[in-house]
Amino acid sequence: MKPPSFLYACPRSLDESLALLAEHGEGAKLLAGGQSLVPLLNLRLAEPRVLIDLNRLSELSYVRRDGGALRIGAMTRHRDLEISAVVAVAEPLLARAAREIGHLAIRNRGTIGGSLAHADPAAEWPLVAVALDAQLTLRSVAGARTMAARDFFVGPLTTALEPTEMLTEVAFPAAPPDSGFGFSELSRRPGDFAIVAVACRVVRDESGACRASTLAVGGAHGTPIHVAEVEGILRGSHGEADALRSAAEAVTRRVDPGSDVHGSADYRRRMAGVLARRALGEACAVPA
Ligand code: FAD
Repeated sequence: MKPPSFLYACPRSLDESLALLAEHGEGAKLLAGGQSLVPLLNLRLAEPRVLIDLNRLSELSYVRRDGGALRIGAMTRHRDLEISAVVAVAEPLLARAAREIGHLAIRNRGTIGGSLAHADPAAEWPLVAVALDAQLTLRSVAGARTMAARDFFVGPLTTALEPTEMLTEVAFPAAPPDSGFGFSELSRRPGDFAIVAVACRVVRDESGACRASTLAVGGAHGTPIHVAEVEGILRGSHGEADALRSAAEAVTRRVDPGSDVHGSADYRRRMAGVLARRALGEACAVPA
């Protein structure tokens, strides 16, 4: 199918883009990498009056270490995050998760801002943003506001973005020293969206015991969910099998997935526990 006709705007600056959004509001769609939006246009599931192409906005493509945060511009491509030397040091979980997104051609075009704004419940960036408690910057002509990723995702393909707002930046807390991460995903084929996925981080004290941890599950609910109970279960442990099993059981109890063609609710629930144990095992392993 072919997309419906629309007006095309190609702004050269963020200010110009925000002014266009303010002018057209709900009639406008932002075009980032186009990897989700273009199929929706072709299927006529999206019929904007105006398409605002963000691809000339080099000011939104960056990865910066800023004190304790890793700041990433919304137009940064998945592939740039996968291979960034700054990301590899500051927050290696991001590079690990990026590898799982679609295929290389998709990662070369798709952007972190587009993925977060699209809010697919099985996508990797929303999962990692919830796991790491990322902060998102949303801008409009009226100004900027910051929102936790944990509040941003409202439901499947639905976020707290207003029609006149653009997501411009995501800030991840940089990994503290002595931290480990884990990422585990189940999908039918490499490059497919996850059926279930788990992302986690564990921070150790001088003795190697876990002093803080965070874990989130994607693909099991309409939005990624942060399983807060895991932190208390793991605190003080060295990643012993019992502790990992208890944490995985907490994940299994917490998720309440639905069934679809890719897997039943029971399968997803059980796999969430299995993936949590694997991811936490990776995160707790002391590097050689
Ligand atoms: P676009 O498609 O351009 O836009 C998506 C939506 O976000 C649109 O509604 C757009 O208006 C809005 N938007 C874009 N940028 C902004 C912004 N800055 N502020 C506000 N709104 C904005 N993704 C995964 O996570 N995992 C996968 O395994 C995966 N597999 C895929 C397989 C295939 C075959 C394809 C085609 C896609 C796959 N994707 C997967 C999706 C891909 O990651 C997309 O890149 C991503 O979902 C959207 O990013 P984009 O930059 O292409 O955004």
